[in-house]
Amino acid sequence: MNHDQYCEELIESVKKQMDERRLRHTLGVARTAKELAKRFGADPQKAEIAAILHDYCKQWPEEKIRKAIEKMADRPEDLLLYSKEIWHGPAAAEIVHHELGIDDEEILNAIRYHTTGRVHMGLLEKVVCLADYIEPGRKYPGVDEIRRQALSDLDQALVTAFGNTISFLAQHKEKIYPLTFLTYNNLVQKSKKMEG
Ligand code: GDP
Ligand code: FE
Ligand code: FE
Repeated sequence: MNHDQYCEELIESVKKQMDERRLRHTLGVARTAKELAKRFGADPQKAEIAAILHDYCKQWPEEKIRKAIEKMADRPEDLLLYSKEIWHGPAAAEIVHHELGIDDEEILNAIRYHTTGRVHMGLLEKVVCLADYIEPGRKYPGVDEIRRQALSDLDQALVTAFGNTISFLAQHKEKIYPLTFLTYNNLVQKSKKMEG
C-alpha cells in the first residue's frame, strides 16, 4: 500500500469519530501540515498522517476520553486537573497507537502535544501544531498575522499563536495548563536567540 492509499484508509477511520465540520478541519490541517513540512524541512508524509489523526478523539464523550487517559502508564499526572479541552491530544496518541497501530514516536508526539505544545518541541510537532492554528477554515482575530509569519518563521508564528491562546484563555478566566506557559516561554527564548 502506498502513502496516499494509507492516508485514505486513515481518513476512513477518522470519519467515524467526528462530524463533517470537524472532518473538514482535519483535512485542512492535513493539507497545511504537508505544506509547512515541505517549507521547513520536516517529513511531509509523517506530517500528513499526524494531522489526519490529531483530533481523532476530539468529539468523543468526556468520560471515554478520561478513561483512555487513566489507562496510560505514562500520563502527565496534572492533565486531568485541567480543562477537558486539552485531553484529546494525549488521548488520541494513546488510542491511535492501540487501535490503528501507529508506532512512530514522532507522529505520536505531534498528536499528543498538538494542543499544549511542550518544551523543546520537535520539528514535526511544531508543524502539526501550527497547521492546526492556521488551516484555511480557521477564523479568529489575528489568524492572518500568524499565517503571514508562517511563511518564513515557524517559531515566531508559534509564539504569536500560543500568545493568542494564553491571552484568550485569561480573558475568559479559564485555567491555563502549566505546560502551555512553558511552551510559550521556550519558544520566545528560541525566537529571541534567532534575532541575535
Ligand atoms: P482544535 O482541537 O482543533 O479545536 O484545537 P486545539 O487542540 O488547539 O485546542 C482546543 C482548545 O483547547 C482551544 O479552544 C484552546 O483554546 C483550548 N486550550 C489550549 N490550551 C489550553 C489550556 O492550557 N487550558 C485551557 N483551559 N484550554 C486550552
Ligand atoms: Fe485539537
Ligand atoms: Fe485541530
